[in-house]
Amino acid sequence: MFGIWGHENASELTYIALHSLQHRGQNGAGIVASNEDYLFGARGMGLLNDAISKEQLESLKPFKNAIGHVRYATKTSSELANVQPILLKSYSGDLGICHNGNLTNAIQLRKALESEGSIFQTTTDVEVMAHLLKRSKARTNKDRIKSALRQIKGAFVFLLLQENSLTIAMDNHGVRPLMLGRIDDAWCVASETCAFTAIGAEYVRDIEPGEFITITDDGIDFDKYSYVEHPNLCSMEYIYFSRADSEFRHQSTYRIRKALGEALAKEFKHDADLVIGVPDSSLAAAKGFSTESGIPQEAGLLKNRYVGRTFITPGQEARERAVRMKLSPVRDIVEGKRVIVIDDSIVRGTTSKFIVRSLKKAGATEVHMGVSSPPLKDPCYYGIDVSTHAEIIASQKSVEEICEEIGADSLTYLSVDGMHDVYKQFGSRGECDACFTGNYPIEIVDDLLPQEKEQKSKGV
Ligand code: SF4
Repeated sequence: MFGIWGHENASELTYIALHSLQHRGQNGAGIVASNEDYLFGARGMGLLNDAISKEQLESLKPFKNAIGHVRYATKTSSELANVQPILLKSYSGDLGICHNGNLTNAIQLRKALESEGSIFQTTTDVEVMAHLLKRSKARTNKDRIKSALRQIKGAFVFLLLQENSLTIAMDNHGVRPLMLGRIDDAWCVASETCAFTAIGAEYVRDIEPGEFITITDDGIDFDKYSYVEHPNLCSMEYIYFSRADSEFRHQSTYRIRKALGEALAKEFKHDADLVIGVPDSSLAAAKGFSTESGIPQEAGLLKNRYVGRTFITPGQEARERAVRMKLSPVRDIVEGKRVIVIDDSIVRGTTSKFIVRSLKKAGATEVHMGVSSPPLKDPCYYGIDVSTHAEIIASQKSVEEICEEIGADSLTYLSVDGMHDVYKQFGSRGECDACFTGNYPIEIVDDLLPQEKEQKSKGV
């Protein structure tokens, strides 16, 4: 997500920022822009270049405030109606709204709202938030938004664009990241700091859990909608999701990943000829592993940059096809060598299986797999697309069985303690590790998966 208030190139900057955030979602993209009179939007399916045409971007140019979103379909279906930001028109004022994350009581709220006459046009959580806001009886706009926020549960950051304000709100666990930036005289926010680099903005600071920020032509107002803070930033943002050049608390994801690789090397002693990182998100961890172990790192796998991330491509068949298109071994480097492959995580095992098979086919004599995170065993209910235990290999099989399934000579994961020790080195305020431990920090109200409800509630 990206949002900006009070800049003459608001829409163009939003477009550039979204481009740098494309890795966060590839199912659709949208921009809603505003001036003091009304809101106007453009959105479409697919990558940003396909979703928003040159003509559409031109039509957004006169507006000096904008929010934008690249969509990563999780529990809701991939269709245009669900592409954000959604734009709602009403006599009391237009509203452009987008979010990152997942509400864990959206179904319950939606049923209650429908029983009282609300009609929904999408299956997104943002529409639930919009209805709660519009139904609030609070006197001021700010209080109406706060009262809506206090009814929702889950992991979320919201951007709400109205004619005269941009509102930014983060849940009080701070699971999904959002950063504050400054460009010229304008304030902006982005899911990752790489968006600030792309537009030439200064990265000011990370938005805090429970924070509620309003930006108007009069300036910026820092407030809270919740004073109870339980910082639980998503571990997978560090491990996999964010770009390596993005920063958290002014520390680069690259350095954090490298430290995870070093920690893995301390736990995983193995003699080998070379270390290979799975490009791109595991290269930093491989560098750390190589530095700590003294085993040289080589580029034994190359990535075709024009294929999307397999993890966020919907559907198993599409995922398998994408892996085959995406990675190729470099025969000259791996032939006759004992190889340690470092990957940041194993979700379904599709990629690992392919990598081991292709490296062996290219002549590697041994392929040992090192994972710079603990076994991913439980689904994420907070906005990452791993929604059932059946999809996750480590919830079905032991480490030995996974090793056998992917065809590796050995398989070693980083321990949960090893992972948290690294986060502490980087000034951690607390991370969500629910997909590794099953300890869910935020209550899951909806019966997302009835058979798993009991287990999910244990950690509440
Ligand atoms: S469950 Fe895992 S993927 Fe989901 S927010 Fe927590 S750490 Fe991130």
